[in-house]
Amino acid sequence: EGRETRLRVVLRVRPLTCTETRRGDQQVVHSLGDGAVHVSAARHDATFGFSAVFDAGASQEAVFEGSGMRQLVELAIDGFSCTVFAFGQTGSGKTYTLMGPLAQSETQPASPALLGLMQRSFSCLLEQSRSRGSDLALSASYLEIYNEQVRDLLSPGPPCALPLRWSKTRGFYVENQLSVEFESLEAIVSLLLQGSQRRRTSAHALNRHSSRSHALLTIHIRSRAVSAHPAPGEGWGLGARRGGTNSPTAGGSACPSKQGTLCFVDLAGSERVKETGSSGELSVEANSINRSLLALGHCISLLAKPRGKRTHIPYRDSKLTRLLARSLGGSGITLMVACISPSSRCLSETLSTLHYASRARRVTSRP
Ligand code: ADP
Ligand code: MG
Repeated sequence: EGRETRLRVVLRVRPLTCTETRRGDQQVVHSLGDGAVHVSAARHDATFGFSAVFDAGASQEAVFEGSGMRQLVELAIDGFSCTVFAFGQTGSGKTYTLMGPLAQSETQPASPALLGLMQRSFSCLLEQSRSRGSDLALSASYLEIYNEQVRDLLSPGPPCALPLRWSKTRGFYVENQLSVEFESLEAIVSLLLQGSQRRRTSAHALNRHSSRSHALLTIHIRSRAVSAHPAPGEGWGLGARRGGTNSPTAGGSACPSKQGTLCFVDLAGSERVKETGSSGELSVEANSINRSLLALGHCISLLAKPRGKRTHIPYRDSKLTRLLARSLGGSGITLMVACISPSSRCLSETLSTLHYASRARRVTSRP
């Protein structure tokens, strides 16, 4: 607490798809073990290091256990603001890593072995809450940023834009976002499905179900555990509930409670308009996606400088960076899962993801 901690970056290399194999694409990315990955192609030869590398053979479970996701869930229960975000080119496996193939075919449920980081974290969270015997109040909100508009994915009816505001105490926050309480795995998985179906996706050349928006699902965890030690001021009849005004330490309730968050961010993929064959509305989308990813990249490269040498961080450049401000530079704890394709055809995007992700490893925050 209060100490500087680094953003944790892990890499996932997806297997070649059937199309890529049929086309005879070369595999240019090779895991070397110990968190190292090697890219070798005609004019490129480079090695990158991460906290962990998952290659094509890695199971969803291995990614959950090896990425530090379980610890992140525990830290969120302990009251920290935790974020995991999937980053990478369109079609590189971000949604697969977070949700598994489930969100992509509505007709047949995915096998449990294929469930992604999100469902695994939900189970872990509910298990922990049961085993700790503490009384946790859980709720979820689900937003997307589409064409620089923040929309609520849980509220019924057509999506409408919500205002993004800033206050001294809360930082950036979305006004009027719906937060739905849940107590079971079925309930939260069904919220995830409902929201994901509302999310803007459109088919283009690289990925049949490409996400055209950034999606942020946040679990709010409030622990109502009764503390053995009364809050300061309580014994003096100064608890806030009774209208006490002169005890700054009494907080908002008679017994201290912890409030953590666990946020899952599925970023829309970067893409080059030429490659995906996007035009018209699609290219407007692509441009706003690319602009916000550029803003994110810019913030990350500034945040990667040593604290003393940092200049102003332009979080306000995009809605995405505003919403991620706390996780990236503030008091959050963040895990980044960089996703890449091993195919020779994706080489330049892959190298750009690897450079971006390496830079992100130097970002620090103070939880
Ligand atoms: P993104 O969200 O980055 O655009 P997706 O997660 O939709 O990409 O993945 C693109 C395609 O590759 C999907 O058909 C998905 O099922 C498949 N895929 C991605 N990662 C894996 C993996 N680790 N194992 C098997 N298939 C994968
Ligand atoms: Mg996706």
